[in-house]
Amino acid sequence: MNTKRIGILGGGQLGKMMGIAAQPLDLDFWILDKSLDFPAAHSCTHFVEGDFTNYEDVMAFGRQVDIIGIEIEGVNDQALQDLENEGKNVIPSSASLKIIKDKGLQKQFYKKYNLPTASFKLYDGPDDISDAVATGSLVYPFVQKVRKGGYDGQGVSIIKSSESKLLRASSLVENLVDIKKEIAILAARNQSGQIHIYDPVEMVFNEEANLVDYLFCPAQLTLETQVKAKFLVSKLINEMDIVGLLAVEMFETNKGELLINEVAPRPHNSGHHTIEAAMTSQFEQQLRCLLNLPLGGTALRSPAIMINILGAYAYTGKPIYDGISEVMAMENVYVHLYGKKETRPFRKMGHITILCDSIESGLQKKEKIQKKLRVIA
Ligand code: ADP
Repeated sequence: MNTKRIGILGGGQLGKMMGIAAQPLDLDFWILDKSLDFPAAHSCTHFVEGDFTNYEDVMAFGRQVDIIGIEIEGVNDQALQDLENEGKNVIPSSASLKIIKDKGLQKQFYKKYNLPTASFKLYDGPDDISDAVATGSLVYPFVQKVRKGGYDGQGVSIIKSSESKLLRASSLVENLVDIKKEIAILAARNQSGQIHIYDPVEMVFNEEANLVDYLFCPAQLTLETQVKAKFLVSKLINEMDIVGLLAVEMFETNKGELLINEVAPRPHNSGHHTIEAAMTSQFEQQLRCLLNLPLGGTALRSPAIMINILGAYAYTGKPIYDGISEVMAMENVYVHLYGKKETRPFRKMGHITILCDSIESGLQKKEKIQKKLRVIA
């Protein structure tokens, strides 16, 4: 259908699921990552072994394709910028990615454009933070986040007192928010400026691992909050001039405010349910954005729950999906395993989507699934 070559930097589960979505559209879909053992290696038309953080590898890969996308933010910036200068279509643009990769720049962006976010300050490192505490310009409790390279709760620490250990990196320090709900909204924008927004999801975190345990969609929000949240997201995607998907994580506070926490310019864990539950999956939507095709519908076909399948605590090694056949005996339950060769505590090994008549009935099924299924080694 389309002769343009798409090249994605990163061969994890997001690359894999994009590759699966590329197949019915008969797209020429390339992936760059380190090893043929990675999840996306067999869902693409060409897998190139290389390092997406390495300038030469990204340049060589980028020159072989027409459109360059990402499934992870930590790619070589300079190469993306140089590929843009050579006339390649890079999505998201290197300029927007530069802001998003640095939580400090992200927060400054929200402030500049009057987008609500928790108040913050930037510090060079733990010593400056300790000095600020000593002089009384910073008071406990607060949240410390490393500016670059954090993911899935790594690089975020709630600092309650002088007993809490500070992270040793250039950081952003935020007020501790009185969170009622954590929600996420996925939006898509193509090069023609068409914007489609999905329904908000409500995320429930695994406290120990600080990553999403499960989520449900639609989020249980008042109509007013939903409208407000979608308005913020459309303002944000326009102001950032993003092409492609933008996943926006937000807090609803106990006072009823909405605060933007952080964004990701790519398919996102909070959109996995769209494969079965929405008119267009986030992965197909991203391909439509990359190719500047008309965007697909975002309406829900059904309420849904998405459970992350995480490696069980204390097991490392070749994964065994204990209880999977009992899970697969359940109706309206869709299992996705990423094919990672090794399980580790809390590693994202797959996900399950439950389609349900109501969130309540879906949550009952979720409980049963989480009791039955364990990823051991
Ligand atoms: P990551 O990029 O690792 O996902 P986040 O910024 O999303 O990091 O933070 C991880 C989690 O930490 C959030 O989902 C939330 O539960 C908690 N958190 C983050 N910032 C705050 C805050 N300012 N106040 C309270 N909790 C927070």
